Amino acid sequence: MPAVNAAHPSPLDVRGRPLRDLRISVTDRCNFRCPYCMPKEAFGRDFAFMPRDELLHFGEIGSIVKACVPLGVRKLRLTGGEPLLRKELEWLVRGLRAIDGIEDIALTTNGSMLAQKARLLKESGLDRVTVSLDALDDETFRAMNDVRFPVSRVLEGIGAAIEEGLTPVKVNAVIKRGQNDDQIVELARHFRDQPVILRFIEYMDVGTQNGWRLEDVVPAGEMFQRIAAELPLEPIAPNYPGEVARRFRYADGRGEIGFISSVTKPFCSTCHRARLSADGKLYTCLFATEGHDLQTLIRDEDADPARLREAIATIWAKRDDRYSEIRSDDTRDLPKIEMSYIGG
Ligand code: SF4
Repeated sequence: MPAVNAAHPSPLDVRGRPLRDLRISVTDRCNFRCPYCMPKEAFGRDFAFMPRDELLHFGEIGSIVKACVPLGVRKLRLTGGEPLLRKELEWLVRGLRAIDGIEDIALTTNGSMLAQKARLLKESGLDRVTVSLDALDDETFRAMNDVRFPVSRVLEGIGAAIEEGLTPVKVNAVIKRGQNDDQIVELARHFRDQPVILRFIEYMDVGTQNGWRLEDVVPAGEMFQRIAAELPLEPIAPNYPGEVARRFRYADGRGEIGFISSVTKPFCSTCHRARLSADGKLYTCLFATEGHDLQTLIRDEDADPARLREAIATIWAKRDDRYSEIRSDDTRDLPKIEMSYIGG
């Protein structure tokens, strides 16, 4: 069993980072085709998504989470693809909610089905949601999701989440220069009087399909300036060490906003996140090129919790990831996993 210290029950990785968050992808499918994540050209009608029998069952996901709690995991985030496409997801939420030691269960969604599902998810034990919304202008939004899905339906979903108490509702907007950067101030104006925390995400070179170029990135500093020119901002302290977003409040006290700057201000030094794919591979970085198969361990040997925990502890203890710190022309074409497969 790798070395641990009293302060952190979890084994520390090579860079002294504890394991605290587990992001769980429950499907590689999505009903949107956002070009920065799942471009239509690469994920067309003939794309071979994961067959059902390769997906981890809810019980297997529960076993992995149970194995991670003694290692320090306290927060879970359900992701996809689009997690609400996974049938009866509320049963998984109920199962995870019942696991001792889990303090927070969140879900990241494109919001397309949230209006219908918000109450059931809340009743099942979900704490909060993060909704991806890259534009308020309907035409821009339809182009950003590339399936002509109307923005009004996602705004309805955000409203339902607020009503059902899945709060704080966070809204994430990925900004790409020349595509939706004209939406930055409009989004800020729209959400600042709502119980919503708006976060702007720098466009990233995730996966291998989005044709990422540095010149398409709008740096967080520039986004900040654009907003502050009209709506003055002041910094607020992070909620906890390793929080990805840098937090600000409007100087007039009407709301909070954040910036996630993986490109211009990497935060790898405090990254305590692991990611589990829907077919049971553990990844230690969003930009990883390979994962660690846990599914075979579970299915072959009937999920021996101690062996599972030891395997995860060993994976984490060897972790040395810091992709955003080493991003360069040389790393751009690495065979990185797709974000639609591993979730954000
Ligand atoms: S690039 Fe990898 S190590 Fe760095 S913050 Fe992102 S997930 Fe963590």
